[in-house]
Amino acid sequence: MAQTSGGGTGRVAHYVGGTFLPGGPRTFPLVDPVDGTVRGHAPEADEAVVDAAVQAARAALDGAWGTTTVADRAAALRRIADGIEARFAAFANAEIADTGRPRDLAETLDIPRAIGNFRAYADLLYGRPERAYTTAVPAWSGGSGQALNYTVRKPLGVVAVISPWNLPLLLLTWKVAPALAAGNAVIAKPSEESPSTAMLLAEVIDAAGLPPGAFNLVHGHGANSAGEFLTRHDGVDAVAFTGESATGSAIMRNAADHLTAVSFELGGKNPAVVFADADLEAAVAGTARSAFTHSGQICLCTERVYVERPVYDLFVEELGKRARALTGYGPMISAAHRDKVLSYYRLAVTEGATVVAGGGQPRFGDARDGGFHVEPTVLTGLPNSARTLQEEVFGPVCHVAPFDTEEQALALANDTRYGLAATVWTRDLARAHRFAPKLDAGIVWVNAWNVRDLRTPFGGVKASGIGREGGEYSLDFFSEPANICISY
Ligand code: NAD
Repeated sequence: MAQTSGGGTGRVAHYVGGTFLPGGPRTFPLVDPVDGTVRGHAPEADEAVVDAAVQAARAALDGAWGTTTVADRAAALRRIADGIEARFAAFANAEIADTGRPRDLAETLDIPRAIGNFRAYADLLYGRPERAYTTAVPAWSGGSGQALNYTVRKPLGVVAVISPWNLPLLLLTWKVAPALAAGNAVIAKPSEESPSTAMLLAEVIDAAGLPPGAFNLVHGHGANSAGEFLTRHDGVDAVAFTGESATGSAIMRNAADHLTAVSFELGGKNPAVVFADADLEAAVAGTARSAFTHSGQICLCTERVYVERPVYDLFVEELGKRARALTGYGPMISAAHRDKVLSYYRLAVTEGATVVAGGGQPRFGDARDGGFHVEPTVLTGLPNSARTLQEEVFGPVCHVAPFDTEEQALALANDTRYGLAATVWTRDLARAHRFAPKLDAGIVWVNAWNVRDLRTPFGGVKASGIGREGGEYSLDFFSEPANICISY
């Protein structure tokens, strides 16, 4: 079995029908993004492994998992949360080993949120009657007959969960928890860049005693591999996917053949709008956080900043200072992603940008020079039509442009094919209320960034997604209402 330097048992294996499979002859390398060294290998699922996972999931629904009650499932979710908590250090180490993220990010965001995802859905189940609501309908045409309508909520069935590398365990569990809560059987396919914490999760779920096949894990790439085999399998009833918008299109094409339900959380090109009346220090600090946290590799990160002209020069100067002062930031996930981000740094200059800060690769003089770091970068001087301002870079970079009127700021912010998140900085409450709903975004923060409550709707408009996750929204996607009408 392949070895990784991640936490826990240090292995990466498929988990199908309650059994860890050693994997076939095909493997792929796990590369440490901090120094570029190969840490180990993981198995690549072929069609037979994916098919076995689908059969195991179906068998679980037809067997023990299909007869669980809400109380059973809530208890199972709590055991999973406890299991992650008991191995907190192993999970954090595995996430760091796969992605090179700073330790504090893993320990304060990734692993606590994964635990929180399971606890939140255990709690939510009790706020949702198992058989949903019952509605009596008094009159029914046809003599003196009456009818009673009631609605049952049923799981969708076999659900594929396909997740990216940027927040590996957080985003995987954000779907796995509600999918299991609603009674589905799950097949998870984590990113090929970051499979280690998903492996630990399978170990925790195994120890938590879920019926075999309720949760399955397969590893591998996307196109022409495990991801595609799953999304075009006729035994899969729904696909919950987070990743690039172009991948969403590819998955949708494959899912179309079987009319498989989809929930998509996709890319972004998120704007921040800073009005002259804002608390400028807070706006600069907040924008630095929203552009550079996790080296810009969070889907909610700001890549476009629009600043009202009277404070524009000062804002650019202060943001540039903060970018130059950053130390201890993590690398891009891979050499390929580093090269993509650097190609955008070069493109920006070709398009006419002024580089206020960064714009290249840092030199550390140690092993990190073999890794995939890029400099936090601030750009100015480009028109909104520039590719640099229209395409998602997914790195530590933002472009700052001035505006003169509220109408102009709105037009600039909305001039994009994406619509995930937006941030507004102003002290004028009336303006905030007027402006925020007009933004093409599923999530708007005013004087804040990435403040999250797991019950609120999460998702994007336009090319940033289809559907909403979070609280009841996820349970709604992962279950289906059926109305039963009884005449009496
Ligand atoms: P990606 O689309 O390359 O890969 C995501 C997952 O899809 C991986 O598991 C991959 O193996 C799989 N995949 C790739 N091609 C596939 C195919 N043809 N069929 C089935 N599966 C396939 O995305 P990524 O590079 O891992 O993640 C970064 C992207 O994710 C960015 O665009 C970012 O904005 C987006 N993202 C969005 C959100 C959100 O909530 N909206 C959150 C995080 C990341």
